[in-house]
Amino acid sequence: MNGFTITKSCALQMDHEDPLRGFGRRFYIPQNTIYMDGNSLGLLPRAAETSLLHTLNEWKTLGIRGWLDGEPPWFYLAERLGAMAAPLVGAAPEEVIATGTTTVNIHALISSFYQPQGKKRKIIADELDFPTDIYAIKSQLALRGMDAHTDLELIPSADGRCLDEERIIACMNEETALVFLPSVLYRSGQLLDLARLVRAAHDRGIPIGFDCAHSAGAVPHHFDQWGVDFAVWCGYKYLNGGPGCCAFLYVNRNYFALQPMLSGWFGNVKERQFDMRLDFEPQHSAGGWQISSPGILGSSTLLGALGIHAEAGMEAIRSKSLLLTSYFIYLADQLLAEAPYSFRIGTPREPQRRGGHIALEREEEAWRICEALKVRGVVPDFRPPNIIRIAPVALYNTFAEVWRVVQHLREIMDREEYKKFSQQRKAIS
Ligand SMILES: *Cc1c(COP(=O)(O)O)cnc(C)c1O
Repeated sequence: MNGFTITKSCALQMDHEDPLRGFGRRFYIPQNTIYMDGNSLGLLPRAAETSLLHTLNEWKTLGIRGWLDGEPPWFYLAERLGAMAAPLVGAAPEEVIATGTTTVNIHALISSFYQPQGKKRKIIADELDFPTDIYAIKSQLALRGMDAHTDLELIPSADGRCLDEERIIACMNEETALVFLPSVLYRSGQLLDLARLVRAAHDRGIPIGFDCAHSAGAVPHHFDQWGVDFAVWCGYKYLNGGPGCCAFLYVNRNYFALQPMLSGWFGNVKERQFDMRLDFEPQHSAGGWQISSPGILGSSTLLGALGIHAEAGMEAIRSKSLLLTSYFIYLADQLLAEAPYSFRIGTPREPQRRGGHIALEREEEAWRICEALKVRGVVPDFRPPNIIRIAPVALYNTFAEVWRVVQHLREIMDREEYKKFSQQRKAIS
């Protein structure tokens, strides 16, 4: 498989041949750490630090003049960042805006795209969704006086890990008003076939949107080509914008005339925003879905961070990401599958069905093993009931690190090191 071997020299050889090998130096890597959690919080790029300090200095020296005299002017920062993010998802610049946060953007878009009529009133989502997506959908239904028991259809998973596109499509019918799904499932790491789902939804006249929090920056998308109607994703995972930094939304240009339903003054046409009229005049672009003053400090990190993606290129990032995860799967099969290790891969093995992270499962003790990894300087994360998520990120992780993580896991099991840890999970795992 891929010509991998279990020797360390194989890893070193792949690092040597890695076209992205210089990119790791552009990040602050926590000392003595193998960081495998970039799907939860990306590391700080040096360029993001520079762009944040630049903006901070503009505030220091320009005060309110920064809105027009900053470089770029703060008044247009959200549009600028949207244009920078657009190529990552295959969109035109005016179809993407940096705004809000992922959950707020889900609310903002579903409130516009969900237009129940007669018996066409159901929203299709899935039972493996990230909880916030479901909370948002349920409250959107409640706001309309509708009932999640009858109007929300959660596609079940046969194995608790993956979804079957066939099954999702079979549920799209004349009662479906909207489909909202993840691109990559946050636990198993399955990548759905977005193009196929869009075709099926549109064949039935149903609008479809995606939460791409776990794919943007790791997996290339072609929203325009596929005809995706809308999408959201966050800036702090594979895009390395920093904890809680602003998120993104995409609206296909076919919907620029749609009314934003969570309106705010930053969605107004910019030329007339400061006329302060009481009639909202939405921008004819994704920008119309902005609500409030953009968090300039919290989004300026992305000016530096997104430049790195542009330079590396999404195709190169995806190629390396797949090689890293394929290598991890290979090593896990060779070295971690048998008892007493007894780990299992919960992520689809076909590369085209995989996002950027691997779900390493173990029937027993996954939580304590995860704790033991952390003490050894490896940063994965844990998702109940039994999943250790490992995200080797193309921009800053190496094949040698993947190799090392597998050795750590073997040693932890050989020495029963995990037994030293409490069974009690912490607030953030
Ligand atoms: C990380 C993540 C979120 C986070 O939402 P916030 O509003 O930024 O807290 C939402 N959905 C998915 C699928 C995610 O992976």
